[in-house]
Amino acid sequence: MNRAQRGLRIHGFEPYSAANGPGVRAVVWVQGCTLGCPGCFNPETHARGGGETPVDDLFERIRGLGDRIEGVTISGGEPLQQREPVLRLLGRIRAETSLSAVLFTGYRWPEVARMPELAALRDRVDVLLAGRYEAGQRIARGLRGSANKTLHLFGDRYTPHDLDAVPDAEVVIHPDGRLTLTGIDPLEVGE
Ligand code: SF4
Repeated sequence: MNRAQRGLRIHGFEPYSAANGPGVRAVVWVQGCTLGCPGCFNPETHARGGGETPVDDLFERIRGLGDRIEGVTISGGEPLQQREPVLRLLGRIRAETSLSAVLFTGYRWPEVARMPELAALRDRVDVLLAGRYEAGQRIARGLRGSANKTLHLFGDRYTPHDLDAVPDAEVVIHPDGRLTLTGIDPLEVGE
């Protein structure tokens, strides 16, 4: 398969989340992360395995949700270790829908700023949360799981206040009885 046509290795997909950005959002958790933050909430996303989902299929799944969602959140795993398919997905979302885009990355902002895809990211993402998870600086506020993470708003769609209103965690109960704990502080659920 041509590298330019690669699909996205994904760990999970949740069509309706209220704890991963402003409003109700579809969430894509990508599979694969080599950054190794001690205390990471999602260690099962680290392995590089998992099949590739064609970007166009993922896009159609998101578009099919229509106006029931306000936007899409890309989380992980590490989205910026699959930049080509992630940016292709975000490009279609920007060009063909009015959905907003939130992206969580474990890369620190200076690392993101050196990436050749920075301009495309700024163009296609409304809210970027950057930085390793630091367990010693753990907080759960404004979409930041630890205080060292930095918030970057591109464009004027959202303000920091919009992010403060996002719940820290949620429990999604699936029709088959499975539970998904999501959000920036999922370990606190039920405590
Ligand atoms: S970048 Fe995210 S997924 Fe990767 S180890 Fe750190 S917290 Fe976990």
